[in-house]
Amino acid sequence: MESGISPDVLARYEAIIGLEVHAQLKTASKIFCACSTRFGDPPNSNVCPVCLGLPGTLPVINRRAVELAVRASLALNAQVQERSRFARKNYFYPDLPKGYQISMYELPLATAGWLEIEFDGQVKRIGITRLHMEEDAAKALHEGFPDSDRATYIDYNRCGTPLVEIVSEPDLRTPAEAQAYLEELKQTLEYIEVSDCNMEEGSLRCDANVSVRPRGDGKFGTKTEVKNLNSFRYLARALEYEIERQIAALEQGERILQETRLWNVAAGRTETMRSKEHAHDYRYFPEPDLLPVMIDAVWKQEILEAMPELPAAKRKRFVAEYGLTGYDARVLSATRELADYFEAVAGAGAAAKSAANWIEGELLRRLKESGSATPAERIAPAELAALIGRVESGEITAASGKRVFARMFETGEPAAKIIEAEGFGQISDSGEIERVVREIMEREPGNVAKYRAGNEGVLKFFVGQVMRATRGQANPQLVNETVKRLLAG
Ligand code: ADP
Ligand code: ZN
Ligand code: MG
Repeated sequence: MESGISPDVLARYEAIIGLEVHAQLKTASKIFCACSTRFGDPPNSNVCPVCLGLPGTLPVINRRAVELAVRASLALNAQVQERSRFARKNYFYPDLPKGYQISMYELPLATAGWLEIEFDGQVKRIGITRLHMEEDAAKALHEGFPDSDRATYIDYNRCGTPLVEIVSEPDLRTPAEAQAYLEELKQTLEYIEVSDCNMEEGSLRCDANVSVRPRGDGKFGTKTEVKNLNSFRYLARALEYEIERQIAALEQGERILQETRLWNVAAGRTETMRSKEHAHDYRYFPEPDLLPVMIDAVWKQEILEAMPELPAAKRKRFVAEYGLTGYDARVLSATRELADYFEAVAGAGAAAKSAANWIEGELLRRLKESGSATPAERIAPAELAALIGRVESGEITAASGKRVFARMFETGEPAAKIIEAEGFGQISDSGEIERVVREIMEREPGNVAKYRAGNEGVLKFFVGQVMRATRGQANPQLVNETVKRLLAG
């Protein structure tokens, strides 16, 4: 932002950040009725009297939603409460047909958790204050209709979709830390299959609370809450903007107003949306139509036992078990699918470091280019291991290996078949190499003379010519020896 504040003024301040993240739980039906949660269906097709809030209807809790929320709580090291309770959060807005949202308030599902982030080579533990369940509101469509200047359309399909809200402690200090936290949280929720965390479709949404204080000050400054941060980039940019805005205001001797602000994507700035609402504005009270949520130790244990390996544990294991660098471990564990793929390739006999290089280089690049997602559908892990084996043993050159890889990726055929059918085998036949060297020497009498007159640099030229003539398939060591021997005359 063009705040015009100098770097040393900025450096005198410290930012305090806490995130409130909403994740849509991956259930087939809504939280209090049997309507489908499918994304993209025709507007207002997945609705019923319950999620439309018609009088006389009663909500019934979706057991699977509770299970997923408990799973998220446990993955985030939080204390799952034996007894939690839904509450009514009252406010009036057309996206909320009942006039209240069923949420949790004074008895949330889980409290006191944490998530570790790795940042600048340091591990930092970020506290999680609470995790609670709630229903989503409908989607107001303000744009895209011929009469959008006069009317707002509402799609109630999203109304009643199960959400968890995950509230962090104000433990984050920079936009980059906030981004690392959101990334780690997203990856964790994806790993445990609690949410698909699709930020474009709104199944992961983030609000950021931020304040600044002079470095060294003990107490926090007044915070603002920034809404509408539906990408990692927006989160970081909005925080950067907001931090500078607050510092500039304080430097002018102004006070920060506690308010809710909106990230304006087009303008690249945060704007006042409304003054801060307080809990009492919502007239919370216990939801009389639902029983308290009871989670017993047995159920908790079952959920814990079904928990897959979490991203942080997997990264650590990849370093310890396969000798990978922290960087490789992070890239390869980006999704469970990719991590499983890597382990299958290594398990089929490829050296871990080579498997990592081929997957991170060739495979990820081609997956990205082709827009495909599932690596094993393109190249079976055992086949990639076979290809790596051929390259490592020197049977084919690395350059040929890449070409074989490309063919495997396109056709799905085994490495051996492609190598044979397309003559990719490395040329280790000394007679064949000798023939090529002689041919080039005949073509280049001037350079032969140069070499013989003592210009050893010409050697490289001849080797290069031979490699080119053999499309990189000649055994490089043999080429070197042969060129030297024949040039010597
Ligand atoms: P509110 O009363 O506005 O709901 P909470 O105390 O419940 O505030 O905190 C909401 C979020 O704001 C949490 O993520 C918390 O970590 C964060 N937060 C609280 N105080 C501050 C502050 N002074 N600066 C930045 N973030 C804060
Ligand atoms: Zn419904
Ligand atoms: Mg609060």
